[in-house]
Amino acid sequence: MEQKMQEKIGRKPVRRVVIAGGGTAGWMAAAVISKILGKSLDITLVESDEIGTVGVGEATIPSLIKFHQLLELSEADVMKATQATFKLGISFENWRNVNEHYIHSFGVTGTDHWTAGFQHFWLKGRKRGLAGDFGDYCLELRAAQHGRFAHLPDGGMNYAYHLDATLYAKFLRKFSEGFGAKRVEGKIGQVLTDAATGHVAGLKLENGALVEGDLFIDCTGFRSLLLAETMGVEYEDWSHWLFNDSAIAVQTESVGEPVLLTRAIAHGAGWQWRIPLQHRVGNGHVFSSKYMDGEEARQILTNNIQGEPLTQPRVIKFKPGQRKQSWKGNVVAIGLSSGFLEPIESTSIHLIQRNLIRLMQMFPADGICRSDIDEYNTQVQSEIKHIRDFIILHYKVSNRVDTPYWEAARNMTVPASLQHRIDLFRETGRVFRTEGELFTESSWLQVMLGQGMMPEQHHQTADLMGDVELSQFLNGIRNGIEWTVKQLPSHQAYLQQYCRAQPPQPI
Ligand code: FAD
Repeated sequence: MEQKMQEKIGRKPVRRVVIAGGGTAGWMAAAVISKILGKSLDITLVESDEIGTVGVGEATIPSLIKFHQLLELSEADVMKATQATFKLGISFENWRNVNEHYIHSFGVTGTDHWTAGFQHFWLKGRKRGLAGDFGDYCLELRAAQHGRFAHLPDGGMNYAYHLDATLYAKFLRKFSEGFGAKRVEGKIGQVLTDAATGHVAGLKLENGALVEGDLFIDCTGFRSLLLAETMGVEYEDWSHWLFNDSAIAVQTESVGEPVLLTRAIAHGAGWQWRIPLQHRVGNGHVFSSKYMDGEEARQILTNNIQGEPLTQPRVIKFKPGQRKQSWKGNVVAIGLSSGFLEPIESTSIHLIQRNLIRLMQMFPADGICRSDIDEYNTQVQSEIKHIRDFIILHYKVSNRVDTPYWEAARNMTVPASLQHRIDLFRETGRVFRTEGELFTESSWLQVMLGQGMMPEQHHQTADLMGDVELSQFLNGIRNGIEWTVKQLPSHQAYLQQYCRAQPPQPI
């Protein structure tokens, strides 16, 4: 039946694109589509000031640099406009155990041999008393610890940004409008469908206006007005693996210079983020309402912020998981409307970007085909499941047993795909990246070792080095990194000369 409907719409060219929603997802979509296809398409974005956006989402990962390059944006301009700072990784505090911390940086640790990753040499070095901390062999990690940053030649420093999400959407709006995207203000009251095809035909706004289109991008956030409410796509709930379902967010004044890390501080039933921008700090406590009531969570957050609050604490409810399809008929959901994983590894904006790139690669200009839809959905599902596994890892392999929440996390049965990786690493020290997967071997290693996992053995190749040779190898890497870090300016000094933002205008 659905296939028949699909065939009907099959070859109808796409000339009018309607983006429902103007948060980070909506304006990123408008930016990409207008920049690439603005000359041949009619692009309209509908958003409602009255509803507003989710208003969080400020920590990113290095892939965003690529996104800006695709749009031919100047990095310094984006950073100035969004009060951005540089980010070299995430500081996981109290995750392995209370008062035990580690950093997951964007860097690669050490140097691999083709038969065996660096961790095998490090493991051997540890056993022989020759190696320092695993992080000592990673430039980005050491630079973050010293608060130093600069762009290095040939992409020698992997970094991302902390940015103000509201300012980012504003910046992308101006950019998109420059490429012909039109913004319509209003609340969508009704989504009209075509009786023959079952597909979306138009958005009826509460002010009476009608916005018609051929392809609809659902960026309406958790509401998922088009994909879920109208097209009836169900949600795959992952809360049996990821217990957190709530967040309380508050912005505070900056105290001190911005650090190069997103801080993720674990508490009794969740964790707290601290994201330093040039003009303020974003804070939030992500927690499980099953294990902690909202008032306690708010109190923990309030007790653990630095600087005066600039906003009232705001509660955001969510359900971890993913829509069973992200593209159905002529509706493609991007952003929170397609699913959500808690922001522990800052992956949501990355997924918006990835899905937009996918959509551009499969853009149905000559008509929507079933095969495009299937390919798109398969890729989206595969990518998010790898990320889901990586996030679950942080909970499953913690040594914390101090609260029922952490105890339950340790005892849960995880997806078979993740259990296999955990077993493989424990038994052999090996880690392999699956094709198309976001997180590299280096990320898996930093988190697995950081969480306290220690493999039972190392690869034989490491045994081919005697103590002197191994020591020279390890020290050579470490000394090279220390020398480089010493040459770098402070993060604050670099921000000042590269992308100093104007003080915020009073609202
Ligand atoms: P929203 O921002 O909710 O935008 C929805 C849009 O739809 C709005 O413009 C709204 O007005 C419009 N809309 C809705 N209904 C209607 C209607 N009826 N009529 C008209 N317009 C309508 N991601 C990261 O990458 N890094 C992070 O650090 C990070 N932290 C997060 C922390 C929390 C607690 C949460 C919940 C999310 C976080 N995210 C993070 C995710 C990130 O916030 C989102 O991916 C991103 O903001 C995109 O949101 P969105 O545009 O899909 O939805």
